[in-house]
Amino acid sequence: METRSLYVHIPFCESICSYCDFCKVYYDQEQSDLYLQRLNEELSQIEQHHLKTIYIGGGTPSALNDEQLEKLMSMLKPYSLEVEEYCMEVNPESMDYYKLKILKKGGINRLSIGVQTFQDHLLKEIDRHHNTIQVKNIIKYAKEIGFDNISIDLMYGLPKQTKEDIQKDIEVLKSLDLQHVSYYSLILEEGTILKYKNYQPLDEESEYQLTLFIDQELEKIGFEKYEISNYAKQGYQSKHNLMYWYYNNYYGIGLGACSKIDRQIIEHSRSLTKYLNGDFKTTTIDETKEETMFNQIMMSLRLKEGLDLNKFKERYQEDARILYKEAITRNIEKGRLMIENDYLKATQEGQYVLNDILIDFM
Ligand code: SF4
Repeated sequence: METRSLYVHIPFCESICSYCDFCKVYYDQEQSDLYLQRLNEELSQIEQHHLKTIYIGGGTPSALNDEQLEKLMSMLKPYSLEVEEYCMEVNPESMDYYKLKILKKGGINRLSIGVQTFQDHLLKEIDRHHNTIQVKNIIKYAKEIGFDNISIDLMYGLPKQTKEDIQKDIEVLKSLDLQHVSYYSLILEEGTILKYKNYQPLDEESEYQLTLFIDQELEKIGFEKYEISNYAKQGYQSKHNLMYWYYNNYYGIGLGACSKIDRQIIEHSRSLTKYLNGDFKTTTIDETKEETMFNQIMMSLRLKEGLDLNKFKERYQEDARILYKEAITRNIEKGRLMIENDYLKATQEGQYVLNDILIDFM
């Protein structure tokens, strides 16, 4: 299978959010200079062939200073010449007009902005250090500079957040005229500050009701839900993330990143010291064919369109309808799965119990 996507991880953050368990460290100029050098060494091992998508994520890539961002853009230039989608995650507090100009010049054509909520009092609850005015300014500058594909991340289930707060967030979203939203339910991960503070997340029923509410409200303002947590205006689905949900190949470089090349999963070290010493990779996992097929199903059922059964057969020389006959039949009978035009997909009800469905496929 061809590998036509690249993920680049920038682990530096200016502050640490109370819910975060991503691979990140505090920003330090010297370390981030050296980090970019190491990243460049990794990059040189990848052929400069026809990549379709590049995604720079973090951490907070916008925490890099102007010179570092320029360096990153020039390192990636030879890889980005033919990309259809070139996206970077940015945080409002570390982004400004000049940095946006650097990104535009570097070829970035999609921004993913970490907003989480437009209620400033709730941002404080999760230790985010920006405010709504900064978000609005960044979006305004980005549009002035010519960015026409802007996504924001929002969250529900935050401490002290009410349904009215969510409604207000959606009203602000409507006024901003954006192309894409990722709307995540807060997941309480081990080792996070919120977990330590013993925060009680939403119970299943409240989460389900809020998800339904968000789905309906976003649909009213023109966003179609195409994945469990993602909504897009027509033509603006995330091409890079679709590649994960199709279980295609991808390169991942940088601290904690992961590549998938056919049946190999190559994981990177999560130790910054090791990474800065040039010790990039830790483990290579060889998936069995069964594991790969299961992972493909797990990822594709997250999509509204579901799993393309014909492509599955082409890729694995196996008919999923026969291979998983029992699991498919049982879940169709329960109203959780359906087959439509040779796509196996979760029904609306099935989307909320995807983990239970997948147990049957195991
Ligand atoms: S900015 Fe992102 S990566 Fe950094 S601590 Fe917050 S959530 Fe985690």
